Amino acid sequence: MKSYKIALIKGDGIGPEIVDEAVKVLDAVAAHCGFGFQYEELLMGGTAYDITGDPLPQETVSGALNSDAVLFGAIGGEKWDNLPREKRPESGLLRFRKELGVYANLRPAVVYDELVNASSLKPEIVSGVDLMVVRELIGGIYFGEPKGRDENKGWNTMVYTRDEIVRIAHHAFKIAMSRNKRVCSIDKANVLDVSQLWRETVEEVAKEYPEVELTHMYVDNAAMQLIRDPKQFDVMLTGNIFGDILSDEASMLCGSIGLLPSASVGDKIGVYEPIHGSAPDIAGQGIANPIATIASASMMLRFALGENEAADKIDAAIKRALKEGYRTQDLAQFDAKEVCSTSEMGSIIANYIEK
Ligand code: NAD
Repeated sequence: MKSYKIALIKGDGIGPEIVDEAVKVLDAVAAHCGFGFQYEELLMGGTAYDITGDPLPQETVSGALNSDAVLFGAIGGEKWDNLPREKRPESGLLRFRKELGVYANLRPAVVYDELVNASSLKPEIVSGVDLMVVRELIGGIYFGEPKGRDENKGWNTMVYTRDEIVRIAHHAFKIAMSRNKRVCSIDKANVLDVSQLWRETVEEVAKEYPEVELTHMYVDNAAMQLIRDPKQFDVMLTGNIFGDILSDEASMLCGSIGLLPSASVGDKIGVYEPIHGSAPDIAGQGIANPIATIASASMMLRFALGENEAADKIDAAIKRALKEGYRTQDLAQFDAKEVCSTSEMGSIIANYIEK
């Protein structure tokens, strides 16, 4: 029997709770699709720091590179907020992404029909939304040098090279070719030099994809348009910090940040993770929504392992659970027939996997 090696990084806060549910669903789908998984648990984040003194132990990088894919929960929490910058969980995550070379973060925002009432926007605005944020993940202001601070000043630098922009732009255009063939590139070219280079370079790459319609939008306008008329977007191509912010905004089109999955991919191993953080405010209570992580596991099957049928089965099971009215606490006010815990939601979805 075919067996895939999956690196599990549960992380901090709600990370272990939600990853356990994704594993439950993966095992259910594997049993029906004739393959298996070998899991290896790896440490990262605050938990890793507590045990090893390093938020990203070297074994985690080598374990991940030695796997077929990484399923990731979330890292971070107040307990570690006052550590020196390089010891903080978030630094471990940034280093991890860089080491794996996962330059493209794909964040689909799809509004489930069953949850149109859960959005903070009117149902007619959000019904049918299906967009993909393609965010550059290992460049831009989160990585640029120089950076630093003294008592009275803090500074970061937003840098993109032409090669980095070319690489992510190709990724976005290829994805658009498999969707509705529209790319909206988002920048701040009216103010930032780095964005001028971004815009010029995206224009050049676009020439190789004549079937795809390219538009440009300033990030401030994009933030507004996403709320005004989200259905105008197909693929939103953007840099690291703008994509981080816009995809959190897009999550509220869908009803809860606990629903949105993501895939971080490059030339090596991909990392599949919910877009949300470790939610320390609800950790350990069994109320986190595991759907974002379960949907990330589905993306892992599709993009990393080519198991499209298994991914379809997970997506259908998630939809069925929502259709039957099962809701975790974050969505309890929205057409819930039954409010369930994190682990109950995982079991319901696992049981709904079609034979
Ligand atoms: P967060 O995404 O953890 O939480 C924001 C809000 O959304 C909270 O009210 C939380 O309860 C809620 N929420 C998040 N996920 C949920 C889920 N699955 N179900 C129900 N509700 C959910 O963001 P934050 O509070 O700004 O950050 C908390 C910690 O997470 C920080 O240490 C931050 O650095 C870290 N963080 C990590 C990642 C990551 O690991 N990829 C991403 C973002 C933030």
